[in-house]
This record gives sequence, C-alpha cells and structure tokens, in this order.
Amino acid sequence: MRKPRAAVGSRSRCRKQASSQEGREKRALSSSQAKPSAPDGLARQQEEVRLQAPVSPYHLFRDTAEVTVFRKSLLSWYDREKRDLPWRKWVEGEVDLDRRAYAVWVSEVMLQQTQVATVINYYTRWMQKWPTLQDLASASLEEVNQLWAGLGYYSRGRRLQEGARKVVEELGGHMPRTAETLQRLLPGVGRYTAGAIASIAFGQATGVVDGNVVRVLCRVRAIGADPSSTLVSQQLWSLAQQLVEPARPGDFNQAAMELGATVCTPQRPLCSQCPVQSLCRARQRVEREQLSASRSLPGSRDVEECAPNTGQCQLCAPPTEPWDQTLGVANFPRKVSRRPPREECSATCVLEQPRALGGARILLVQRPNSGLLAGLWEFPSVTAEPSGQHQRKALLRELQSWVGPLPATRLRHLGQVVHTFSHIKLTYQVYGLALEEQTPVTIAPPGARWLTREEFHTAAVSTAMKKVFRVYEGQQPGTCKI
Ligand code: SF4
Ligand SMILES: [Zn+2]
Repeated sequence: MRKPRAAVGSRSRCRKQASSQEGREKRALSSSQAKPSAPDGLARQQEEVRLQAPVSPYHLFRDTAEVTVFRKSLLSWYDREKRDLPWRKWVEGEVDLDRRAYAVWVSEVMLQQTQVATVINYYTRWMQKWPTLQDLASASLEEVNQLWAGLGYYSRGRRLQEGARKVVEELGGHMPRTAETLQRLLPGVGRYTAGAIASIAFGQATGVVDGNVVRVLCRVRAIGADPSSTLVSQQLWSLAQQLVEPARPGDFNQAAMELGATVCTPQRPLCSQCPVQSLCRARQRVEREQLSASRSLPGSRDVEECAPNTGQCQLCAPPTEPWDQTLGVANFPRKVSRRPPREECSATCVLEQPRALGGARILLVQRPNSGLLAGLWEFPSVTAEPSGQHQRKALLRELQSWVGPLPATRLRHLGQVVHTFSHIKLTYQVYGLALEEQTPVTIAPPGARWLTREEFHTAAVSTAMKKVFRVYEGQQPGTCKI
C-alpha cells in the first residue's frame, strides 16, 4: 500500500535548515568563518591588506589596569546578580569532569537560538532522563526527538547524540579537555561551544564570543563596522581572549553573556545598572553627542574618539551610516540586513478515525531521517503551489498512498498555519478528513502510526504540527500564526 513518501520541501531547504542550526555557533563569529567565496588575485590581496590594517587604540583596551577594572567590575556584578539557572547548579555540584562537560554541552546546544526561559524545562527533563554521556549515547533518535519536540531546530538534538556516541565509542567515554580538541573531535561543536565547555567545565582561560558578547564588546569599544565581517570577528575574539579572567574563565564568560542578555540588551539597554559603564565608549559617545546637541555645536572630536567620519578606520561605521541620535548606544553593533525567509507552501491533512478501538485515532507519518525536521512525525503533507492549484488532488493522492481509497468529498479545508523556520516561511494549508462510516483500520503501514490524541501530544512532532492540529480541533479556527 505504501510508496516512498514525498517529503515536504526540497533537500536544499533541508541543507539550509541544517546550516542555520549552528545558531549561536554561527553567530559566534569564528575568526575562521568562511567568506562567501574564496577571494583570488586582486581581491585576495585587498583582503589581506585589510586584515593587516592596524587597529585604532580607540577600539582596544590600552593597558592591564583597564582590563583589570573590567574583569573585577563584571565578575562582582555577576556574583551578585547571576540568574539561578539549572545548568549552573548542575555544573557547580558535579566533580566528575566528563559529567560537568556534558552538562555544559547540553545547555549550550539547547540555548542556541532558544530563549533561556524555554530551555529551562527541556534541560531539566533531558538531564533527568540522560544524566550522563553514556545514557544519551544509548538512547534512540525517536526518544531524542520526542524530548526535543517543541524546542525547534531539531538537528541540534540529533547532533548532540551523535557527539555523545562518538565520545563513548571512540574516545573512551572522556570528553576532550581543551577548546581546540573539543572543536576538532566533536561533531557540531564549533568555536563558541568548544570555548564555553572548556572554560566552564575545565577552567581553560579561553574567551568566547556569542551574540550577547558581540553586542557588549561592540558597545564597550564602539565598534560600528559590520560585526559579521572577518575583521570585526577577529577583533572581537581577540578582545574576548584579552579580557577573560584566567582565574575564573567560566564565570567570566558567563558573566559577559549574562550582561548582554539582561543589561546590555538589544533595545533599551539598562546602562545605569551596568557594571562596566565607566569603560563603555558607546555610552561616552552618547554623552558627547548629547552635549554637542544641547550646545548646538557641530560634533567635535576629542582624544577619546576614533575617526568615524573619515572612512579610514575599519572598525568604525562607514561614513555612509551616520550616527542616529534616537538609537543612543544601540548605534552599536551595526545592524546587518538579513535576507527575508523564502516562502513555501504545504498542504497537510489531519486524517481521523473517530470510531477506532480505544478512542479516536489520527494518522501521523514519519519524515525522512535527514534534512528538515528529520525523523519527526507529521500529518500527511504535500508541497503545494501558493495558488492552491491541484492542492486537494495532490493531498488526496498522498493520503490514499497511506491508507487506500478515501471519501474524497469529505476532505475539508479548515484554515492555515504559518510557521517560520530559520530561512523558510512555510504556510500550511490545513485540511481535515474524518472516516466516520468506514471500518476502523488498526494497522498502519511502515512509516505511519495511528495515534490517540494523548499519544499525539507527547509524540516527536513539531510545534507547527501541534498548531495544525489545533486548527483541526477548531480551537483556533481560521488563520493561526506562529
Ligand atoms: S554602559 Fe550601556 S551600552 Fe555600555 S556596556 Fe553597559 S549596558 Fe551596554
Ligand atoms: Zn574606529
């Protein structure tokens, strides 16, 4: 009865999704970050000259005294204000280095592109279920997907498990002990995650740069150039390495990230509560600009300013992007325009047997084991034209390939759900079909399952499918945007 299933979306979509899931890793701005294409000839020479350009002292910490003040101020603030987060407790209470590193690793992977508040519950359940690398290595992908359901960017969980298996099967159960070996030996571990594990779990004095640290450092040193450029990335990693407190590297790195997350926020940063305010060049720049404006004087440079308007400095904003008075310190870091997500459309159907034994059952089918939402369960779906043409027919064919002949006239269009994956805005046209008069089918073909409602809610299904189901149930009739 069953044929190889057509996946929703293309493989190229899957690759984009997979690459985006580096998330914080990608935004960590590795100095080895790949350029869009390898420069050659003149372009390469220009790039080399640019990378060798001296950096104005304005964007550096000039002496050890300044560095010491920064470290002390930040760490004493962190000691007073740090949030009570489960992974911190877990790591503090763990003396076994491999277990500590594993606890940090799980938290860092979960926190990629996901809010702390969302991660807390998932982290707690994960560590209860798989408290060691060995436990995770012996879990099934189905179990991993089930626990990860709703957290998004599902390849993160899969790669975490692949990494755990590698440690158990090839590294004698011991995590590599340095940032360099962590990054080299573990799949999916990039420069940021490696540095975070090495500093927090092993006390290696290595700085880290994630999105929060980018913001803090760009503001503290008034770096207005594109933070995703190679030059700025190198400069930020270099600053992070210079600043990290050798005696407490893990705490220092967490403090810098915490400052970005809670005080030096993207909008409306709380500068008056900031422990490093006295060292912050963005703040100084704001005060200078305000003074100039209040005296109706043209902005005049002083010794504490770089040369932002000459176009000479590679770390200042280009002259084409003047200071915006309304943004204040949020003039830093420079916003990089992102491409809008690609729009795609899918038709999906909740096929239900209301009279099935043991209560109503709905049909779920499994996605392929690689690519977007790999291995997760979903309602039968087909890629659809945005115009909606031939949608019903294609969907019926898909449904029939799973369960045989169906009463086509009962297929009802119920609404739509819009879900944005990192680079794809996917609109699901939601259909429903209830097999009222048919004899209940108890056996599903391979790759499919008839689930009760309760089973559906705890299965490895994505948030988008849960929204689709809500439209079917009529709890959110019409369009449901998520
Ligand atoms: S003073 Fe303001 S802009 Fe500067 S680091 Fe602190 S919160 Fe960020
Ligand atoms: Zn400059």
